Amino acid sequence: MSIRLYALGVGDTFTEKHHTHALLLEAEGFRLAIDCPDSYRRVLRHARDKAPPATAAALDLAGIDHVLVTHVHGDHMNGLEGVAFYKRFAQHSRLSLHTIAAVREGLWEQRLAASMGRLWDGTKFIELDFADYFAWNEVSLEQATTIGPFTVRARRTTHHVPTSALIIEHAGRSIGISSDTAFDPALVQWLAQADLVVHETNHGPAHTAYADLLTLGQDIRDKLRLIHYPDEFDIAGSAIRVLREGDVLDV
Ligand SMILES: [Zn+2]
Repeated sequence: MSIRLYALGVGDTFTEKHHTHALLLEAEGFRLAIDCPDSYRRVLRHARDKAPPATAAALDLAGIDHVLVTHVHGDHMNGLEGVAFYKRFAQHSRLSLHTIAAVREGLWEQRLAASMGRLWDGTKFIELDFADYFAWNEVSLEQATTIGPFTVRARRTTHHVPTSALIIEHAGRSIGISSDTAFDPALVQWLAQADLVVHETNHGPAHTAYADLLTLGQDIRDKLRLIHYPDEFDIAGSAIRVLREGDVLDV
């Protein structure tokens, strides 16, 4: 038993080389998307083109009904509108959306309602609400949250807006995901409970410098896989392993 991790998008918000932050976790046939960047079906398609052919079935939006959004920055969630429209119009269903409470606050009213709150049905405008598109499930910061076969623990990071880091477990195996965060040794220690840790690196006070990650002990560095790196990051020269788009890891 293991968790299958698909690396879909590894770049930052300024990238011209990559898609932005997106992961997909799979266990027992259940798929949980972590973040949902722009043009999400194309993100899946590009990963499908790079990943082993046997994994292609997982990388199809029709079979992805659960999305966990770590925070309301476009490079992590700009695709939510299109995915929810796809679920509504193409599949006549709702998207199961998982977030901590602070991420849910304002997500509809301040972000999505402008483009999704009103539809023309051919004769008149109809008003729609968050619950018309989304089945929302709170990811607790206090206790473990069950999402399908996964047990999810969340912890706030230090970032511009409310953001959750995650440890996602299934059958005794686990993956830590930092999402966006300033360098936080206590957070890294918490994440390092997991068997593998997907950690961001980028520039600026609200992100984690590569040089800071190099100060961590070798046992922790061995668990890390870098994501959210700038285009100029020296992947080949990195002393910490780096996720590439199309990577499929069985953890
Ligand atoms: Zn961010």
